[in-house]
Amino acid sequence: MPEQQWSLDTQAVALGRPAHSAGAPVNEPVTLTSTYHADGDGDGGVGYARVGNPTWTAFETAVGGLEGGEALAFASGLASIAAVLAHVPHGGVVVAPHHAYSGTTGLLADLAATGAVQVRAVDLTDVAVVRAALAAEPAADLLIAESPTNPMLEVADLHVVIDAAHAVGALVMVDNTFATPLLQRPLTDGADVVIHSATKYLSGHSDVILGVAVTPPTDAGRALRAQLHVHRTSRGAIPGPMEVWLALRGLRTLAVRVERSGTNAAALADRLRQHPAVSRVRYPGWGSIVAIEITGGAESTAGRGDDARGVEAAEAVCAATRLWIHSTSLGGVESQIERRRRHTAEVVSVPANLLRLSVGIEALEDLWRDLSDALDASQSTR
Ligand SMILES: *Cc1c(COP(=O)(O)O)cnc(C)c1O
Repeated sequence: MPEQQWSLDTQAVALGRPAHSAGAPVNEPVTLTSTYHADGDGDGGVGYARVGNPTWTAFETAVGGLEGGEALAFASGLASIAAVLAHVPHGGVVVAPHHAYSGTTGLLADLAATGAVQVRAVDLTDVAVVRAALAAEPAADLLIAESPTNPMLEVADLHVVIDAAHAVGALVMVDNTFATPLLQRPLTDGADVVIHSATKYLSGHSDVILGVAVTPPTDAGRALRAQLHVHRTSRGAIPGPMEVWLALRGLRTLAVRVERSGTNAAALADRLRQHPAVSRVRYPGWGSIVAIEITGGAESTAGRGDDARGVEAAEAVCAATRLWIHSTSLGGVESQIERRRRHTAEVVSVPANLLRLSVGIEALEDLWRDLSDALDASQSTR
């Protein structure tokens, strides 16, 4: 049975391993080397380890298989995004979601400030707005889609926005960090490149920073991948082999982690909708991230997101949990909670009383008890 016919759950376990032969190790070793023995004419082989490393190749084989393309590992998720943005012609137009990972919006703002790109920020869920932004003169060169968006959990109709971008000749990069290839495979919707912060679900244990870019197995995809490879090598945007090995080890359990954390998240979203301290729950119905807005208690003005009491109460929730870890980042086995607007870089249309929950794989009842106790306390301690 060809590997491509294995289910994705199986591919996460089986791809990127050494060949099955007597005496071979079952895992790709960590190759710690800066250079390789010369191979004669100097043109063949990898030569120097900024160009390639067998541990990277094993990870790239596994992630590429899961996304249905060919992968390149990068030093971080942001390094992979920067590599794609370097592909935009100088002064070119990038259409991007106005709610997106704050590192992405920050990088776009930096590039726009120097004139390297022009940015048109859109609500990706509003197809008419996306179409207009893509088609306005001069037409867009790149559409960045992030879906669900961080931290507002807006879900784009990827197939539709990708087609709209292609209609004006723009490339499409999809940040698939939140969904993982088990829940969404943007290359099958026509995306030109998928990137991940492998720091999050792919590695899954909050112990590495790593990125990956995946291009389709077509001539155009291979040409883009070659350019991204040149960028990775010449800018030195390379990961350490140990980080990549850890990510590959973490990837082996992706299916069980995504399933368990997703089940936990769905159950928590339901219960949170009933909790009096929570004025709004954002949850797309799948995945492991839930965003909630916290009320400021009986005296607060209902529905006012920036209500100072709501912010105070949201901070109190983060301070009171004992199991949920108050930290930035997401996608680990451990549940994490954060008020996103504590970062000045977060977009101001994200409500100040919004908490992003990255639901982990702990027992549901322990997560609920810890969170609901903290929510209750947040309403009474002032
Ligand atoms: C964390 C994150 C990134 C950035 O990845 P790093 O590995 O931290 O560089 C990009 N996109 C999304 C959606 C993220 O959550």
